[in-house]
Amino acid sequence: MAMLEVDSLSVEYAVDGGRLRAVDGATFSLGEGRALGIAGESACGKSTLGMALMRSLPAGATHAGSARLDGVDILAMGRREFDATHRWKRVAMVFQAAMSSLDPVYTVGDQLREVLTEHGRGAGGGEVAGAMAKVGLDGGVLRMYPHEMSGGMRQRAVIAMALLLGPRLVIADEPTTALDVLVQSQVAGVLRRLRERGTSVILITHDLALLSEVADSIAIMYAGQIVELGAARDVCESPRHPYTRALVAATPTLDGPPPAHLAGSPPDMARPGAACRFMPRCAEAMEKCRADPPAFGGGASYARCWLYE
Ligand code: SF4
Repeated sequence: MAMLEVDSLSVEYAVDGGRLRAVDGATFSLGEGRALGIAGESACGKSTLGMALMRSLPAGATHAGSARLDGVDILAMGRREFDATHRWKRVAMVFQAAMSSLDPVYTVGDQLREVLTEHGRGAGGGEVAGAMAKVGLDGGVLRMYPHEMSGGMRQRAVIAMALLLGPRLVIADEPTTALDVLVQSQVAGVLRRLRERGTSVILITHDLALLSEVADSIAIMYAGQIVELGAARDVCESPRHPYTRALVAATPTLDGPPPAHLAGSPPDMARPGAACRFMPRCAEAMEKCRADPPAFGGGASYARCWLYE
């Protein structure tokens, strides 16, 4: 059994008297010490999926389906039980804006020690130093205030904070956005090392190049649905779903052709319609795609498209 088994996860928000399904039937699994990348355009549901697994959905949002972590359904338990047994201890999340995750008036060391004392662990110097070492920061950084650190140091300090209680799963939501390429590479290295130490990672990003460096498998999301799932190399080098192919074609490379722009925009999620959600933008659409949405493929590798029936 995989460490994490997500089955038919859906999330709905209340909007204008109706419901908007931001995540629709996400199904995937993740092994111990493995990394799954989740990619797609803005508002495709990837951050909502991460927040659902972290039990951090805003008030009014509802979820369905299951997410079994080491056999325990973390979506079925009450929020209080999740906070007591899983939040930060077994599942931790890293957000993109490191500066807003750190308090500007305390040193990094004070903030890391506070996490430990809040969870009744005592401010153990060994645990703090260990978490800092995992992200490649030395003890001197503990005496620094956030404004004295570079963007890369801040992001790595936030990852260290997430690691303090030894989580099994780290969800990183756009952890390299707004960082320069050299710092992105440092953060990618930190995430790779986490996997090597047995921590599983879900990396949410729009950056396929980053995923090809870090992820073992990739899920591509479009309009709330996973439209392609497979090994990272297959998804990046031999994409099947027309949307994945468009994403790959839009990714700049040093020696390849200029990136191709995908025209159009995703459907209104409050009224996604009955057809394949990608149909208005798909150059390969058939009559069948209008009459019937492509079925979910299931398994570790699939493309949700009639071309791969
Ligand atoms: Fe395009 Fe049809 Fe495949 Fe949808 S099901 S992506 S419209 S070919």
